[in-house]
Amino acid sequence: MQLPNHQILENANKIVIKIGSSLLIDAQNSALKQAWLNALSQDVNSLISQGKQVIIVSSGAIGLGRIQAGFPSGKLKLEQSQASAAIGQIALARAYENAFKSHNIQVAQILLSLEDSENRKRYINATNTINTLTSLGFVPVINENDTIATSEIRFGDNDRLAARVASMINADLLLLLSDIDGLYSENPQKSGSAKHIPLIKTITKQIIQAAGSSGSDYGTGGMITKIMAAQIATESGCSMIIADGRENNPVKAILNGKQYSLFSAQKSGNPARKKWLNATLEPKGSLYIDQGAQNALTHGKSLLSAGVTKVEGKFDNGDTLAIKSANGQIIAHGLTNYDSKDAGLIIGKKSQDIADILGYAGRANIIHRNNLVHVQTTEEA
Ligand code: GLU
Repeated sequence: MQLPNHQILENANKIVIKIGSSLLIDAQNSALKQAWLNALSQDVNSLISQGKQVIIVSSGAIGLGRIQAGFPSGKLKLEQSQASAAIGQIALARAYENAFKSHNIQVAQILLSLEDSENRKRYINATNTINTLTSLGFVPVINENDTIATSEIRFGDNDRLAARVASMINADLLLLLSDIDGLYSENPQKSGSAKHIPLIKTITKQIIQAAGSSGSDYGTGGMITKIMAAQIATESGCSMIIADGRENNPVKAILNGKQYSLFSAQKSGNPARKKWLNATLEPKGSLYIDQGAQNALTHGKSLLSAGVTKVEGKFDNGDTLAIKSANGQIIAHGLTNYDSKDAGLIIGKKSQDIADILGYAGRANIIHRNNLVHVQTTEEA
């Protein structure tokens, strides 16, 4: 079944387009594909002239920089890839500027780190900057700040970065332009019976398995990071498309009927803060809870110390934590009222005993219900 192609793109007002390195760099000639980028700028111009806002998340800094630095092919050391990013980001920004200026579109560069999306204040700040730029008619071109991010605290792939950006600015559509036209039941390069999946309404275990078996041999971040991106985007109320962007004018190609995979947005009634909490990638610690507390949470109650069985990690008051069931499944994210030391002292204890145990009158709950958000499970639909 193929979807009505025009609808999803035509209905979207705010579109984040993610462009993978393989689309921008010609590995054989070690050069930027300026003609492809010029054609993309036509597509973006046509979206903008229909009154839509477009935000670009572009990879390519490391790929371009390594060519200029003369690094050999193969895996780079961390400092080499960071140096490459510093060198290549300038070329990347210039390439966008050149391509878009022929349509009188001005671009603006933003480099984000994981912390900019995980820390609430920095998140709001980044959101405001992007929104200001788009309202002024600029097209933000975003990449990860690869030059300083270390491996433990970085996105590492622009699929999830793009999804976080889409969620941040309440985009209605995230378009991942890749070197494959969507999700298949298995790796199409290895199996002749692999079936294209045009519409994914719920990200089930089978979908995750299909992405896993698709392997990571195609697409920069592999299919798994794209599914993780889909989880972040769709749970924030943003639909996501994976489309093949290799030919010129990939957006026009979608409008003309080229096949793609669409992940439908989930209806998200969550306010902005809960959306942000839901999409947290790196909780600072975990609280394991018993069945009674799990039932209470399902009924929209706060998390009390009595229902917590184990504290994991080192965290401060106000940090984001994962709330886990006895078997370790994440069921919610929440902002803690206690640091890990005090939380460790009060778990399993009644709320009225907290003051005696800690020597100060703390909050009655470990996590207030307003600061809790349920994480969607990926059980079969
Ligand atoms: N941020 C990296 C770059 O610009 C790319 C990350 C990715 O390929 O997803 O080169």
